[in-house]
Amino acid sequence: MANMRFFSPASVQEAVSLLNTVEDSQCLAGGQTLVAMMNSGLVSDGALVSLHAIAELRGIRKSGDGGYAIGAMTTHAEVARAEQLRGAHDVVKEAAGCIAHSPIRNRGTIGGSVCLADPSTDFPAALVVAGARFELTGPKNSRQVSAEDFFKDYLTSALDPGEILTRVLLPSRPASLKSSYLKYARAHGDYATVSVAVALEMVQGKCAQARIALGSCGPRPVRSLEAEHRLIGTALTDADLADAAEMLRSATDPVDDVRGSAEYRKMLVGPLLRRAVRQTLEK
Ligand SMILES: Cc1cc2nc3c(=O)[nH]c(=O)nc-3n(C[C@H](O)[C@H](O)[C@H](O)COP(=O)(O)OP(=O)(O)OC[C@H]3O[C@@H](n4cnc5c(N)ncnc54)[C@H](O)[C@@H]3O)c2cc1C
Repeated sequence: MANMRFFSPASVQEAVSLLNTVEDSQCLAGGQTLVAMMNSGLVSDGALVSLHAIAELRGIRKSGDGGYAIGAMTTHAEVARAEQLRGAHDVVKEAAGCIAHSPIRNRGTIGGSVCLADPSTDFPAALVVAGARFELTGPKNSRQVSAEDFFKDYLTSALDPGEILTRVLLPSRPASLKSSYLKYARAHGDYATVSVAVALEMVQGKCAQARIALGSCGPRPVRSLEAEHRLIGTALTDADLADAAEMLRSATDPVDDVRGSAEYRKMLVGPLLRRAVRQTLEK
């Protein structure tokens, strides 16, 4: 820690320039993971480029297409409280609200969480189901990557060295599309053993659209188009959901760890999916 240099740029442009010119530099967002890594000696050299003084990275704004743009430095607590996300983006709001405990939600940021690409965290599955896109800004230009393509593997994402995640873009959604996020954890505030994000549109009692993603069930959020197609045109009976859960289960690749065995995680998929779907239909 004694060897770390600290920079506090006031703009994205300045931050990107520092990341690309200062050796071994990385962004500091909420510090909830990075500072813990520094405390345990896992990160001890190089430079921190703090994003705290960059006003344009904070807050939630309506975007031109009727969706929302969430600045990367917006905290989990701000996303959880965001009234404008209620309804169309419940899945994102609910995921933010069940992250850890309030001290971590007050400091941790959506950008920091996404850039970690840890499959046991809450945002990845929720943002895949929400159809989010991430704006990544590098020295030459900005580009957008869908949440689906961003999360590559365990702690591995499509973010290139020298790029900053600047905004999380949520698309416009019809009011008829309802969504939920459900997390099963050993104890309140723990990382998920399994989580499920669901978005559904019902038309005259039949499912017209279904999007489902599982968290903590593989190195990246798990989706199964086969399971989603199985639900289209159905009334989402227990039998329909049991079939879809089986398809989803076979797409998972969970690990054995302190939060549950791979077998236990697979077992949880069915009950959690059923509960998340029922919760969504009640909205
Ligand atoms: C005890 C504990 C419990 C937790 N429980 C949960 C939980 O239940 N669910 C959950 O989802 N999460 C959980 N977390 C993770 C936490 O929510 C934070 O989101 C996460 O640690 C990272 O966010 P941060 O803003 O603190 O990022 P930092 O720690 O500051 O940064 C993390 C990494 O991302 C990079 N980075 C940060 N922002 C950007 C950016 N905009 N562009 C490019 N790179 C960037 C940094 O360089 C660093 O490598 C927990 C953390 C702790 C310490």
